[in-house]
Amino acid sequence: MTKTYKIAILKGDGIGPEITEATVKVLEAVQEKSDFKLDLLYGEAGFHCIEKHKTNLPEETITLLRHTDACLKGPMTTSEETDAPVSVAVKIRKIFNLYANVRPCRTFPNVESLKPDLDFVVVRENTEGLYSGAEFLAAPGVGIAYRIITTKASTRVAEFAFKLARKRKKHLTYIHKGNILRITDGIFKDAVKTAATKYPDVAIDDLHIDAAAMQLIKKPETFDVIVTTNLFGDILSDEAAQVTGGLGLTAGANIGDTYGMFEPVHGSAPKYTGQNRVNPIAIIMAASMMLDHLGEHEAAAKIEAAVIDVLSEGRIRTPDLGGTATTTDLSNAVIQKICQL
Ligand code: NAD
Repeated sequence: MTKTYKIAILKGDGIGPEITEATVKVLEAVQEKSDFKLDLLYGEAGFHCIEKHKTNLPEETITLLRHTDACLKGPMTTSEETDAPVSVAVKIRKIFNLYANVRPCRTFPNVESLKPDLDFVVVRENTEGLYSGAEFLAAPGVGIAYRIITTKASTRVAEFAFKLARKRKKHLTYIHKGNILRITDGIFKDAVKTAATKYPDVAIDDLHIDAAAMQLIKKPETFDVIVTTNLFGDILSDEAAQVTGGLGLTAGANIGDTYGMFEPVHGSAPKYTGQNRVNPIAIIMAASMMLDHLGEHEAAAKIEAAVIDVLSEGRIRTPDLGGTATTTDLSNAVIQKICQL
């Protein structure tokens, strides 16, 4: 019997709808060449729906997500006003306990990168730490943010990273600022070291976050799997994206024990909204990660191979890659390659 996956699609804000729609066409093309079906269910979420729903993540959308196997999420705008709703990505990560944020950073053919042949992954703890945005105004002009780090969350993300390292080059670097944040990063470091005893075949080392930011520029080829806390991982993975080729190419997966949400690492780039000029590859690669997570490895590999073929030819490039092609030119080229594979 043909397997059917229910996929929630959240188009997002800014450039979100155009790149998500392009990716849906890629998914439809790969489905044609595979023996599974995708039941795509569209939900409302993001800055654009606050006026109508008084929230950026309506209850109906949460219910929709609960009834799906995975979610493909376009980037969403998050207001910086103090009373604005918390980011949709942060809410979904918490509701579904998507504790590992996985961001593969690799070079692509014909795409400028700091060094050639880079291939590493940033695994970021996704549910706690400074990025949770738990903060309050203690007095006028005095703000306090909580940086909650627990053994439980640190252990589960460390275990996830070790399992991933085992499938790769068996090298894990854990990144912290344990010399200053002795309690919180002490807990994180201890959790990684304890988890390491179960994975003796994986070599480990560690770096302070500031040294890691430098090392990522100086010797990015020395990394395989990086594991770190939430905010450090957020910053480091954007840096890593730039080192390997730019935000337009980097995808991210948010993985929990029972659900996964897949999205580009970049944001909603509002200044390019509706211009059909941004690079859709990051979210197309997120769709590939989603199929891989669902166990459809062949289909995931087809998308990746099609992307690599198009970039290798170097004819169709969006402006961020130095060309003049549109979002649809690039996604159509990927679709054409999928049809030929
Ligand atoms: P951004 O990633 O949206 O854009 C930064 C710059 O990167 C853009 O101006 C553009 O030059 C480039 N860029 C990004 N995506 C690109 C693409 N696909 N192709 C080509 N170039 C691309 O970051 P920002 O300006 O800091 O944030 C804009 C909004 O996005 C904010 O509201 C922020 O909160 C939100 N955001 C959302 C997510 C998410 O939904 N997961 C992630 C990051 C930022």
